[in-house]
Amino acid sequence: MTSTSDHTATAASLLDESDPLRRYRDYFLDSTEDRIVAYLDGNSLGRPLAATKGRMADFIDNEWGARLIRSWDERWMDEPTQVGDKLADAVLGAAPGQTVVGDSTSVLLYKLIRAALDGSMPSGRDEIVLDRDNFPTDRFIVEGIAAERGATIRWIEPDAASGVRPEDLLGLLGPRTAVVVLSHVAYRSGFLADAPTITKLVQGAGALMLWDVCHSVGSVPMHLDDWGVDIAVGCTYKYLNGGPGAPAFAYVRSELQDRLQQPIWGWMGASQPFGMSPNYEPAAGIRRFITGTPPVLAMQPLKHMLELIAEAGMLAIRAKSVALTAHAVTLADQWLAPLGAEMVSPRDPAERGSHITINHPKFAEVTARLWDVGVIPDFRPPHGLRIGLSPLSTSFSELEAGMSAIREVLTEAL
Ligand SMILES: *Cc1c(COP(=O)(O)O)cnc(C)c1O
Repeated sequence: MTSTSDHTATAASLLDESDPLRRYRDYFLDSTEDRIVAYLDGNSLGRPLAATKGRMADFIDNEWGARLIRSWDERWMDEPTQVGDKLADAVLGAAPGQTVVGDSTSVLLYKLIRAALDGSMPSGRDEIVLDRDNFPTDRFIVEGIAAERGATIRWIEPDAASGVRPEDLLGLLGPRTAVVVLSHVAYRSGFLADAPTITKLVQGAGALMLWDVCHSVGSVPMHLDDWGVDIAVGCTYKYLNGGPGAPAFAYVRSELQDRLQQPIWGWMGASQPFGMSPNYEPAAGIRRFITGTPPVLAMQPLKHMLELIAEAGMLAIRAKSVALTAHAVTLADQWLAPLGAEMVSPRDPAERGSHITINHPKFAEVTARLWDVGVIPDFRPPHGLRIGLSPLSTSFSELEAGMSAIREVLTEAL
């Protein structure tokens, strides 16, 4: 080892020793099958909690197995809104009655962007604003809706190394804007948008603001009620550790709920799900955004993670996230920049979520080699190696071991 890596290794263990959240790492499952040296992709799929196995077994024994269909009456019907309220309280900064869990992020984006547009078109608002760097599903869903409804898309062209800033919206908002769809944290650069300022700007133009919070929820504190956000959609398998395919959630500000009508009318979002009525009549409040049978089984692991997050507190989680990404930036500058790697994430922690992206033409090849040795970042074409740092499950030493392996494998590849 060089003296540089000795120095940072010491820094990493000191950072771990003084980390007030360090004990939370022990709650996560340590695989006995496959030794993980560094998991740097918690922003794509969070690690399972060790207790999830027992909780799922319990659920199968005591709810599904024992109570069978009686469980729908006893508790499952209320799970989408009860888990939604817990999520709202722990991570969204939202009062109860405004959040529901179900469907996938993509489907909820469809339902809510359509609802926002349909409600606005009668008053001549037929434009949807979003950015070219938004996550593919967000762009595709908006393109589909625009084609279906004859709406127009107004594209923001943000600076690729950062993201959408309030000034980027100025020329695009107007009397025809229906809804603006942006990511709170950009999936590629990690740029953290100024949500309160942008929300006010959009509402000042008479339009609705929809935030995709997939890449921020559980790592960046949110105050959706205080910010006056209209709609938010996010997933639960990234920093909320709900597991592969865990359902998404939607937040709809209470005053807006009864004014919006979502386009997929199903029996579970109707006012009397078991009334078997001849016509669709939407439920009052947030339940109207449900369509079919809620994914109860798939929302169980999430509940435990929300308890841990509530206990640790979002401010402490954010502080650790900032320290982790700052350490990653330092290591990237010292070890990877001399090999030709380029930082494409904001250097100011106030403008950054919980991951960073570094570009190098060799990173596709490097990532494949790293995965074989238990170092798991992810790769986003064309050249981006993305390092996701999940605050409750990642240590500074783990990050350091991962960065050191990236340096080694990249050196060999050159
Ligand atoms: C992960 C992610 C999604 C995922 O959508 P799914 O329907 O769950 O596959 C959508 N938007 C953003 C910004 C994401 O980061």
